[in-house]
Amino acid sequence: MNVYGAVILAALLVEYILNVVADVLNLRNLQPNLPEAFADTFDEDEYTQSQAYTRVRTRFGLLRSTVGLTVLLAFWFAGGFAWLDGVVRGWELSRIVTGLFFIGLLIGAQGVLSLPFALYSTFVIEERFGFNEMTLGTFVLDRLKGLALGVAIGGPLLAALLWFFQHTGPYAWIYAWLTVTAIMLLLQYVAPRILMPLFNDFEPLEEGELREALLEYADSVNFTLDDIYVMDGSRRSSKSNAFFTGFGANRRIVLFDTLVEEQSVDELVTVVAHEMGHYKRHHIPQRMAISVLQTGVLFLLLSIFLQVEGLFEAFYVEQMSVYTGLVFFGLLYTPVDLLLSVPLQAWSRRHEYEADAFAVETTGRPATLISGLKQLAASNLANLTPHPFYVRLHHSHPPLRERIQQIQHIASPSPAQS
Ligand SMILES: [Zn+2]
Repeated sequence: MNVYGAVILAALLVEYILNVVADVLNLRNLQPNLPEAFADTFDEDEYTQSQAYTRVRTRFGLLRSTVGLTVLLAFWFAGGFAWLDGVVRGWELSRIVTGLFFIGLLIGAQGVLSLPFALYSTFVIEERFGFNEMTLGTFVLDRLKGLALGVAIGGPLLAALLWFFQHTGPYAWIYAWLTVTAIMLLLQYVAPRILMPLFNDFEPLEEGELREALLEYADSVNFTLDDIYVMDGSRRSSKSNAFFTGFGANRRIVLFDTLVEEQSVDELVTVVAHEMGHYKRHHIPQRMAISVLQTGVLFLLLSIFLQVEGLFEAFYVEQMSVYTGLVFFGLLYTPVDLLLSVPLQAWSRRHEYEADAFAVETTGRPATLISGLKQLAASNLANLTPHPFYVRLHHSHPPLRERIQQIQHIASPSPAQS
């Protein structure tokens, strides 16, 4: 094994161990007694359920990542990448089509491997905790649609990337960067209009008290939006959520039907106010800019490593090619990705506080925002006491307890703390 192989192996193992440590700490941090602050929303039974749910999901996640890593390492050290490369080369197709098959087959194998886990997660775990509303038919159809979209969008994009790196010389990474950025921007428009309706029904929110309250609030903060939609999230899960899609005048709020059912009009206004806070505090373009920047760095590094023979040798592949290089570089990038995700998640958690602050300032209803958040946590059986290390590694949102403290602090800052 050469130095590239050693670095990649070490990175994969370190990532795995960090995740295991975070999981163990998180399980140990579960408190047997319901925290005082949640006594008004959770009952003892719900609290016990939320802990059981965290335990079951954590153990299942551990099993899944252990199997995933074992299969990857076995495939690697048994010379699987070199073998697959030999097979697709044997078909004597053009280099780009050969590359599409190589990467497509690897993704397909990963999909097959993940299938039993997805089935178990949905029809055993989510079912047991009363979340699953999906039929086997919906599950199969979702998978097929996802596959079709992946082929229709991912296929041509991958072909373009392979072509750039094979034919356009030292500036290939710039063409690749521009292409991926253009597609990312295009998807912002296409996703809510064409892609998401393939999976769910979106109905404009019916006339009435809720619609009026939301539009009145949007107006009060000078927020133009396309419309408010209700999505039939209940077709798949009883968990609830709300989100925004699109940008500019195309922005639309989407509320899960389960959320509309569970929360009061005032609570829903504060939930939407939080989401609008993300726009008003310019979080969306900031996140976009970061991911565009990240994409650029990624392709620049890729263009460098595609020239490095050692990277191919590490996977026992003798003939260098763009498509194998793309896969190996993806594995080499694992540690960078892990390192980057920690500050990026911290940044995202700060945005959540800012959006909460915006909601409090513009609605003047801190107590309502808090009750809405608690209610959401209760119905989704959220873990109320995640371990700080786990939060740093995985959470894009701050733990609810800290969010509530922050909201209370904004609403009535105590002089001693300032
Ligand atoms: Zn948010």
